Amino acid sequence: MNTDVAILGAGAAGMFVALVAQARGLEVTLIDPHVHQANNFAISGGLFPAAGSALQRAAGSADSPQAWLQDLRQFAPGMVNENIASAVAHALPLATDFLSQTCAAPLHFLPDMVAPGHNQLRFHCVVPASGAAMHAWFRQACAQYPRIRCLTEPAKVQRLAQGFELRVGSDQLLARQIVLAGGGFGANPEMVARYIPGMAGALHNGSPTQDGSTMALGIEWGAQLWGMDGYQGQGHTNPGGATRLGMSIPTLGGFLANRQGLRFVAEDIGPSALAPAVLAQAGGVALEVFDAAIEAQLGNHGAYQQAVKAGQVITAPDLASLSAQTGVDLHSLQQTVEAVRSFAMGQARDPLGRQSFARELVPPFKASWVTGALSHTQGGLLTCADGKVLDQQGQAIPNVFAVGGCAAGLSGRGAEGYLPGNGLAQAFGLGWRLAQALS
Ligand SMILES: Cc1cc2nc3c(=O)[nH]c(=O)nc-3n(C[C@H](O)[C@H](O)[C@H](O)COP(=O)(O)OP(=O)(O)OC[C@H]3O[C@@H](n4cnc5c(N)ncnc54)[C@H](O)[C@@H]3O)c2cc1C
Repeated sequence: MNTDVAILGAGAAGMFVALVAQARGLEVTLIDPHVHQANNFAISGGLFPAAGSALQRAAGSADSPQAWLQDLRQFAPGMVNENIASAVAHALPLATDFLSQTCAAPLHFLPDMVAPGHNQLRFHCVVPASGAAMHAWFRQACAQYPRIRCLTEPAKVQRLAQGFELRVGSDQLLARQIVLAGGGFGANPEMVARYIPGMAGALHNGSPTQDGSTMALGIEWGAQLWGMDGYQGQGHTNPGGATRLGMSIPTLGGFLANRQGLRFVAEDIGPSALAPAVLAQAGGVALEVFDAAIEAQLGNHGAYQQAVKAGQVITAPDLASLSAQTGVDLHSLQQTVEAVRSFAMGQARDPLGRQSFARELVPPFKASWVTGALSHTQGGLLTCADGKVLDQQGQAIPNVFAVGGCAAGLSGRGAEGYLPGNGLAQAFGLGWRLAQALS
């Protein structure tokens, strides 16, 4: 059988492109052999920025794609993938409006989702925020459109002079165009050791499906790579990696202390850059300290609520109890909390360079042990703003597209360049442009 477009990977990027492409009248074949395993979309917080969406405007925001772009460039100076950044900024509100208005996705603008590096409230998700719930909605939406055919066996792909031949189980199909959307390489130890040696052997809290297999197809076909050492780190991951606290606690006033009870980093550098900083502490762990008033603001934060359910959050009526429960020296803890109070009151400046402490922490205290993890790789196949994969000379490889973790991300180099929400922003923003470029 023939198909207009074969998409390898039914995650955030692949399913989004499928939805837009079918709405444009294209016949889509969506192939994913790991549908019974949670992918990164299902594991994610599901939070994505869309500056200028109808939902955000209705909430009274005067945000704009330019403002998001400015935040991105300020957060990751010299590390932005300018091939796609502006296009993604302008596509994101259109992609979000398409999901909420055309597809009736149950998306909301989240007025309480503060995020390091973002100067405006601009995150969207289902409520309560959850990647798993968003993923489930996308899955059922893809199943309901007759122009999307879902296949669940591995594809053997052969590039032809015109298009592609795919063998998927007993199905054989000819596709005019192919979209590589199989995610990144965080679960491929050999690739991590080669491209991100500093994280070789580190905890990976992303999906085991991130094996780099669709990126390998692009490489085989001559693609250029970009930003291969870039990754999304997670410095708020509970040890073991099953749960995490989410990114908002420092912005609301919390801090991190090592086993000696000492702060070691400006916590507002963002959850990604925090990962290597936490890993560098004794035992690779830190105690994230906050209070009940901050917890009260995390009711809609799905990741945090899961951590609470998993028993990862300690409650302590005072610092003596917190010290007894965690083994962190009481005297150091008292000194650190007092220092944080003086920064919050504007009585002293943080020598670590953190700009804002939001408020003074008051009992009862809350705390949770965290470590650093590699969540998602950001480097990949270099594309133009329409998602066409570029070769070593910068020319588009005919009919080959890439998006999501398989494609070069929005900003790279280590963990520092990942502005919260960049993963889904690229999947949906670049996905929107790519889907318009399919024929
Ligand atoms: C812990 C964690 C938290 C995160 N939180 C956020 C967040 O809040 N906001 C945000 O913006 N981003 C977040 N991300 C990143 C986000 O999940 C990714 O950017 C996004 O899922 C990328 O989409 P994708 O489609 O490329 O990958 P995925 O969603 O992982 O989908 C890839 C799909 O490809 C399939 N596949 C793999 N190989 C093949 C193959 N050879 N053939 C066919 N199919 C294949 C896989 O089975 C998978 O279903 C988070 C990631 C993690 C791990």
